[in-house]
Amino acid sequence: MCLQKAKSKLEQELLASLKEIIAAPRLYINEPMSRHTSFQIGGPADFLVFPASVQEVSAVFTLVRELGVPVLALGNGSNVLVSDKGIRGVVVKFGDDFAGIRHLGKTVIAGAGASLTSVSRYAADCALTGMEFAVGIPGSIGGAVFMNAGAYDGEISKVISAVTTVCPDGTVQRFNHADIRFDYRQSVFQQNGCIICEVELMLEQGSEKDILAKMDEYTNSRETKQPLEMPSAGSTFKRPPGYYAGTLIEQTGLKGFSIGGAQVSNKHAGFVVNAGGATAADVLALISEVQRRVFDKFGVRLQPEVRVIGEK
Ligand SMILES: Cc1cc2nc3c(=O)[nH]c(=O)nc-3n(C[C@H](O)[C@H](O)[C@H](O)COP(=O)(O)OP(=O)(O)OC[C@H]3O[C@@H](n4cnc5c(N)ncnc54)[C@H](O)[C@@H]3O)c2cc1C
Repeated sequence: MCLQKAKSKLEQELLASLKEIIAAPRLYINEPMSRHTSFQIGGPADFLVFPASVQEVSAVFTLVRELGVPVLALGNGSNVLVSDKGIRGVVVKFGDDFAGIRHLGKTVIAGAGASLTSVSRYAADCALTGMEFAVGIPGSIGGAVFMNAGAYDGEISKVISAVTTVCPDGTVQRFNHADIRFDYRQSVFQQNGCIICEVELMLEQGSEKDILAKMDEYTNSRETKQPLEMPSAGSTFKRPPGYYAGTLIEQTGLKGFSIGGAQVSNKHAGFVVNAGGATAADVLALISEVQRRVFDKFGVRLQPEVRVIGEK
């Protein structure tokens, strides 16, 4: 993971400027994204940085804008499929420096890199209810807002009050709930390119015992039903209106169906898993084949929930 020689003149200029913003141990070159995704798939990112402050995020945005280089945020990499060629430009990943959690009354404030499970557990410790649904979702809270993650009867949109972001022009902007335009697995951040740095949640006072009981129930349900022992990005497809993707896939006889190292999970047909050595091309081919066969049988078009990123 040491700094290697940057290739082009632009990359050298970018590297020199990035080094002035981000300290060397938090800056990686040609970093394999398979190390940063729950699928354990993905070619190298030209540059991967772990900012330590909102000011650093802003400085990186301003720099890449000046140089015309693409930039992308990454949380825990649990809802992405990174292409085999990897990601050109700069990936901004939120690590430990953005994982702080604090609260003031019923408001919980978390850095974008805080894991959903730790926010959920923090809320439980404060006897605050509303985040139980998120225990066991392996993402960051920033990624959860971007995706409007949800499970059981909960959804991040139901508890978010405001979000602090850095936008493509480098400015720090605050979005209130109404500005975020949440919808099923949708938020405004999928269109506007702003990076979520901090999240404010408005929770309700509850009973710690009841909160923990609910979290245990959800954890048991995940462990029983989901292929947690294999690398994946969770549910591969969005829930089509009126159906469950997993049920349609199972009824099409695709449980266990594989292409290369990518396989429709034998445990839960809604999950594509990396059964060993899968490439992004394997996963994409499997997704297409599943879509085709489910459409032929049921006339339903499955839409991927997993976000495909990187050079095609
Ligand atoms: C075993 C398993 C179970 C899962 N169960 C569920 C579930 O029950 N419900 C559910 O909704 N999801 C589930 N997921 C999917 C995933 O965990 C969620 O979508 C999660 O919210 C993604 O967060 P992340 O930090 O991993 O995002 P990433 O995968 O890192 O990123 C996802 C997208 O968000 C963007 N992004 C990430 N962070 C930021 C940021 N700070 N600012 C701007 N954009 C950002 C990325 O560019 C990318 O486009 C599951 C995944 C797995 C592997």
